[in-house]
Amino acid sequence: MIDLKAGGDQPISPARRTDRSTPRAVRMAMPLARDVVEEIAKQYGVCIRPVPMRRQDILTGQVEVIDVPCGATLESKCPPCAMRNRQLRQAQCREGWHLDHEPVNLPDTPDEYQRHLVELRADAQAWRDEVEKAGGDTTDLDAAIAELDEEINAAGMRGNVLGRVSGKRTRSTKRRQDAPDLPKRRVVKTTLGRTFTGSNGKTYRPSMFVTLTLPSYGRVLEGVPVDPDAYDYARAARDALHFSKLVDRFVQNLRRVAGFDVQYFATVEPQKRLAPRLHMAIRGTLPRAELRQIIAATYHQVWWPPTDTVRFEGDHLPVWEDGTGYLDPDHGGGPAHLGPSPRPA
Ligand SMILES: [Zn+2]
Repeated sequence: MIDLKAGGDQPISPARRTDRSTPRAVRMAMPLARDVVEEIAKQYGVCIRPVPMRRQDILTGQVEVIDVPCGATLESKCPPCAMRNRQLRQAQCREGWHLDHEPVNLPDTPDEYQRHLVELRADAQAWRDEVEKAGGDTTDLDAAIAELDEEINAAGMRGNVLGRVSGKRTRSTKRRQDAPDLPKRRVVKTTLGRTFTGSNGKTYRPSMFVTLTLPSYGRVLEGVPVDPDAYDYARAARDALHFSKLVDRFVQNLRRVAGFDVQYFATVEPQKRLAPRLHMAIRGTLPRAELRQIIAATYHQVWWPPTDTVRFEGDHLPVWEDGTGYLDPDHGGGPAHLGPSPRPA
């Protein structure tokens, strides 16, 4: 029951204290301290949901917690970060879109100490491999190598001498193996698209605008499926949930086919028929036919196992293994492959 005796419309003086005797309606009219903090943060353009991160000084061992801006691009998540991101994108677009050269930073040439470390690392690797071949224990050598890798990074070198990303590479099972082959060009390390020379001798470097929409799951009228029984709800929900993955895969495929590091600006917009839609401004061009092939192949590649057949239940469940994921209990350690479900064409 709401106690309205004191009236909810009374102005609240800053001196008013909230205790049990304050009527509920009056208390409810007071702003939440947390909301006030957010309002002030917005006003000063400061992130409203910073991410706390621990930073340890490797010399003194001192640990401090620093707040890093969340970096959201959606205004509904964090207006100040979204605004900053928008301004950054605008500046990037204004300064970069028409560049006819690469704004690359060439890495510095390695100094003597860096070279020494890498040589040491090579020797350690050779030694380790010999011990392994002879059937010996490589634990100590592996530890020494790990330390050397850290030292290499600390000396201002990026990445790993073996040239691979740390951790075991496992193939995702969320990928159809029968994806149609896309044309592939040799990838050139450039972000610049093709140029064309006009009849007047002028050189053009065209760009293009692409809109990606998801297929129909059934007719929708005023935000509601016309025929609920025929509407493919499961597919609509999954496509919407995994939309960002579709976009990632599309860009991957686009770069592979285009043969260069395609740059773009994009935005996602909801459609009336409940599906998200992507608008992309792409630097450089590709034939429309190739683009259509990429779109078809991308959508074909992202698939999900069927949810209407139960594969594991009761005691018959996939077994978890750290670093690998779930393993199929029947196939003696193979990944718990759920089997592709061909999409209806
Ligand atoms: Zn933020």
